[in-house]
Amino acid sequence: MSIKIKEWISRMPEYIPGKTIEEIKEQYNLDRVYKLASNENLYGPHPGVLEEICKNLDDIKYYPDSECREIRQKLAEKYNVDRDTIIMGNGTDQIIEMICDSFIGPGEGVVIADPTFLIYEKSVVKYGGAAVKVPLKDFRQDVEMLIGSINDKTKILFLTNPHNPTGTNINRREFDYVIENINKDVLLVVDEAYWEYVPERERINTIEYLSGCSNLMILRTFSKIFGLAGLRIGYGIADRSIISALNKVRIPFNVNSIAQKAAAAALDNESCINEIRENIDKERNRFYDILNKNGIGFIKSYANFILINTGKNSDEIVEELLKNGFIVRPGENLGIPGYIRVTIALPEINEKFLSVFIKIFNNLYKKEKV
Ligand code: PMP
Repeated sequence: MSIKIKEWISRMPEYIPGKTIEEIKEQYNLDRVYKLASNENLYGPHPGVLEEICKNLDDIKYYPDSECREIRQKLAEKYNVDRDTIIMGNGTDQIIEMICDSFIGPGEGVVIADPTFLIYEKSVVKYGGAAVKVPLKDFRQDVEMLIGSINDKTKILFLTNPHNPTGTNINRREFDYVIENINKDVLLVVDEAYWEYVPERERINTIEYLSGCSNLMILRTFSKIFGLAGLRIGYGIADRSIISALNKVRIPFNVNSIAQKAAAAALDNESCINEIRENIDKERNRFYDILNKNGIGFIKSYANFILINTGKNSDEIVEELLKNGFIVRPGENLGIPGYIRVTIALPEINEKFLSVFIKIFNNLYKKEKV
C-alpha cells in the first residue's frame, strides 16, 4: 500500500481476542465447546432482560436515543448522582477511547500497570500519546510506584479494580493513598468492570469519593456480572466537566437501542446479581481447593476468572484444552507467561474443566519426568 498510515498507529499494540466457539468446533470436530477465555458471565442475563429485548425488537428501525436518557436516569437514581455526570459507551472500551481522545495529545501520556487491560495502551497510542508502565508487585498494582511514575506529561492514571488479567484487588488503604497523593490535574480513571464480583464487605464505594474529587472517573459495565457482553454497553461517572468533554468526542447513537433497553431491565432485576456473585464465590473456592490438592499454583481472585500457573509456556496445555472443548486465554497473550486465565463458569462446567485440566496437567508433567 502506498498510502502512509499515521506513524503512531503502527505502534499500537495488537489486541488478540479469545478464539470463538465456532472456530474451535470446526477445527477439532467437536459438538460442545466452552468459552472460558473472556471473563463472560455464563449465567447470562435475567429472564426479564430477555423479555424486554424481545418486546423492543420492532423499534430497531429507529435510531436509538443518542443521549441514553432512560438508562442514565436509572443509574443516576441508583447512585444518587446527577444524570449529567454519567456517560454511556458501546462497552467501557469505547469510553476508554473517548477519555484518551479528549485528554491525550501527541507527547502526552498515561500511567498504567504492566500488564493490565490492553485497551488503555491501545487508546493512548491511538491519540499519539504513550504509556508509562509500572510492573505489578506480587501480581498486584503497586500504587506507590504508579503515583511515583506520574510526570509533567501525565494526563491520566488508570487503575483497574479488580485487576485484569490477575483478578487481584486494590484495597481501601491503597485507594485512599492514590486519592490523597494524585495531582489534581491528572485524571484518575478507576476501571471497575468486575466490581460487582467483589464481596460486599471488601468493595470500595468509589462513588462516594466523586463529590470530593473532580479528577476521578469511575467505569462500570453491563458486560460482566449483568451478562450483556454481546450488546456492548458500559458507563462512566465523573464530574460534569469531564463528561461534557467526553460528549464532545462521542459519536451520535453510540449505544444501540436494544442494549439501552436491556441494561435498564437489568437494573430493574438487579437483585439476581447477588446470587451470581455468591455462586461465583463458591466456585472460586472449588478451584482453589482442587488446585491446592493437586499442588498447582494460582492467583487468588476477586473476579470471575482465575490465573493458573502452568509452570511453563502454556501453549501445550492451551492446545490440549482446546482439543477437549475448553477455550482459555494463554498468559503469553496477556503479559503473564506460564499462566492461563480461566473464566469461572457454571458449577457443572467448572467441574468438567477442572477434571480435564488436572488430567492434562498431570500427564504433561509425568511425560517430562519419564
Ligand atoms: N475493563 C476491563 C478491566 C475489562 O476486563 C474489560 C473486558 N474485558 C473491559 C473494561 C471492557 O468491558 P466492556 O465490555 O464494557 O467494553
